[in-house]
Amino acid sequence: MIATGGNERTYRIAVIPGDGIGREVVPEGLRVLEAAARKFGFRLHLDEFDFASCDYYLKHNKMLPEDWKERIGSHDAIFFGAVGWPEKVPDHISLWGSLIQFRREFDQYANLRPVRLMPGIPCPLAGRAPGDIDFFVVRENTEGEYSSIGGSIFPGTHREVVIQETIMTRIGIDRILKFAFELAQKRPRKHLTSATKSNGISITMPYWDTRVEEMAKSFPDVTWDKYHIDILAAHFVLNPDRFNVVVASNLFGDILSDLGPACTGTIGIAPSGNINPERLFPSLFEPVHGSAPDIAGRGIANPVAQIWSGAMMLDHLGETEAGAAIVRAIEQVLPHKQLRTPDMGGTANTVTAGKAIADALT
Ligand code: ATP
Ligand code: MG
Repeated sequence: MIATGGNERTYRIAVIPGDGIGREVVPEGLRVLEAAARKFGFRLHLDEFDFASCDYYLKHNKMLPEDWKERIGSHDAIFFGAVGWPEKVPDHISLWGSLIQFRREFDQYANLRPVRLMPGIPCPLAGRAPGDIDFFVVRENTEGEYSSIGGSIFPGTHREVVIQETIMTRIGIDRILKFAFELAQKRPRKHLTSATKSNGISITMPYWDTRVEEMAKSFPDVTWDKYHIDILAAHFVLNPDRFNVVVASNLFGDILSDLGPACTGTIGIAPSGNINPERLFPSLFEPVHGSAPDIAGRGIANPVAQIWSGAMMLDHLGETEAGAAIVRAIEQVLPHKQLRTPDMGGTANTVTAGKAIADALT
């Protein structure tokens, strides 16, 4: 936040639309954020950047300028659309050259994804109504199973052995657990579930479990349990009402944080935060979906995931009332078919849907 002459709170936001439908849904996200700023009496100072996009890559032969950290590192948050255009630039270049750099360099070790069934969205799980499914998946975003340590011995022979190590550190586990317990503590049910697999992965996962037990001692008001990842995934489908905050390693969290939103209907509404809880670096807020080249340019992309990501960003910045008001506006608009985009069985286009949510706020 930067101090201004008057009493108004001002936040500096780095806006990166990226590729494909990112460029269509980001303006709708900004429309709703600006409506929220007017209503709740704060200001947004928006700086838009064209890097972290495939067009930028085609012009400059790189995804980011040399000084990208200086250019966005002192902003209060990053509002990101989507990156990737596989026909022009392979995904391993576009994704690894941009978003993965942000997550690593800005130590955004907590990946936060709400899983909530919204009114008006048909639920793929039979007999579930809004209110039955409302929890968060917290994924460790920087270590664990996704290490590049390993290799192949006797490659190409019948004796070939391929090894890839899982790296878990006490610091890395403890900081994600602390984040998850604190989140659980703030929610009415004050319950946390840990994903494990200590019956099969016999070194790292039992260690993860002991760190959960240890961390729980600092949160006596939070109840907790643990499930092996296989049955945990089954319970997401069979008993989603059991969950409040679910914390998981990088791989398990990756899987659960796609499965969760899938249980609540369309990919077009799922938001996420890549968070540096210590606030040493900006956190990044983006939809779970990608750039959707198949529908880009047609004006029919669902803007809800981007708008909801904006609500998470405001919550992170301390504008909790404004964040909650955006989520309520989304809940008010979604039941109306004529205000929903085609992926949700409606007839609205991106702009109509975005405007309807902005109007519902004021
Ligand atoms: P990623 O870039 O994360 O790998 P992906 O390639 O898995 O993404 P997406 O770009 O998310 O896939 O698209 C998957 C499918 O979902 C596509 O058919 C796309 O049109 C659809 N889709 C994604 N986002 C939206 C949206 N906001 N509105 C409507 N449809 C969407
Ligand atoms: Mg893609």
